[in-house]
Amino acid sequence: MHTATIDRDQALVYLTEPERAAELLTMACRLRDEGHGRTITYSRKVFVPITTMCRDTCTYCTFVKPPGAGGQYLTPDDVLAIARAGDELDCTEALLTLGDSPEAKWPQAREFLDAHGCATTIDYVAEMSQLIRSETRLFPHANPGIMNASDIARLRPTNVTMGLMLENISDRLTDPGMPHHNCPDKVPSVRVETIREAGRQKVPFTSGILVGIGEHPAEIVDSLFALADMQREFGHIQEFIIQNFRAKANTRMRNAPEPEATYFVRVVALARVILGAQANVQVPPNLTEDFSQYLDAGINDWGGVSPLTIDWVNPEAPWPDLVRLEAVTGEAGFVLRPRLPVYPEYIESEWIDAELLGAVVGRATDDGYADIPIGGSTP
Ligand code: SF4
Repeated sequence: MHTATIDRDQALVYLTEPERAAELLTMACRLRDEGHGRTITYSRKVFVPITTMCRDTCTYCTFVKPPGAGGQYLTPDDVLAIARAGDELDCTEALLTLGDSPEAKWPQAREFLDAHGCATTIDYVAEMSQLIRSETRLFPHANPGIMNASDIARLRPTNVTMGLMLENISDRLTDPGMPHHNCPDKVPSVRVETIREAGRQKVPFTSGILVGIGEHPAEIVDSLFALADMQREFGHIQEFIIQNFRAKANTRMRNAPEPEATYFVRVVALARVILGAQANVQVPPNLTEDFSQYLDAGINDWGGVSPLTIDWVNPEAPWPDLVRLEAVTGEAGFVLRPRLPVYPEYIESEWIDAELLGAVVGRATDDGYADIPIGGSTP
């Protein structure tokens, strides 16, 4: 298992001294090439916003809506319509994204769950996952917020992977005036416990950091080392998302400065150096106009890209079409390959529930990528 080649103090120097950028990026690219060669991946997905209600109030979020102002659950018919449309377009991933425990705050959420015979939103996610599995070829990838041990066990037979961004390890971001104040699901220790429990249950997991929400460089370094530590202990974090904050209208952080491009590129490269050659390091391509710069910072994955649905978390930011994604990747000297929501190295009985393993293998190439054309079917 990887041990970081730099320590915390060295990492902080790289992040805070722009004149060291070339050295850092060279190191990151060398590690990426060592671990992944010239292959860059993406996951062909549909985005399924199971519920836009949430009990939290993160000050940068436009995804969440109160009931009466757009906050709602998708019905089973809604979910199935999205999944079927994605299936027709050769998508392999149904990304189930939702607010955290809305039933703890909103009576309307409780009523919806009662009407559908579910005790919790996670129960509903499990039922929708089962519905997707039984009616389509897609593989659910649930991001339902905080999960306890029984939640994870409940979702594992239908979800090839699950996810929860760490965002940042610093409690300071929950202080009054900070973006996670009064957000019980954003307390770092609670998020760490969910990620660790997924490790105990052998769930291939997505996590990562959100950059530019008021954290200090040292807190980014600490967050990356926290993720590296969990990966060293459990080996289950199959991908690390490094995401840049974008200021959105109609949020309390609408006037907050976004991270400078050159700084964010150094964060991405530092993530590669701390997390190591084998790590799958991903930056979403729809949050930066010139996303090719991340190839020079050591990434090997573009994450989920949809030919059909918008990015509900960043609705103002369309995904690049797959022709452009392939062209940009190719011009930089890489080969774009579609992957399944679970990465090739995790397609084993140790990591995937017996209910799912045969179907996953059935949609994989001999070397574990998605057995679909690079761009899949076009809409
Ligand atoms: S970022 Fe997530 S947890 Fe925070 S308010 Fe939005 S949906 Fe809820």
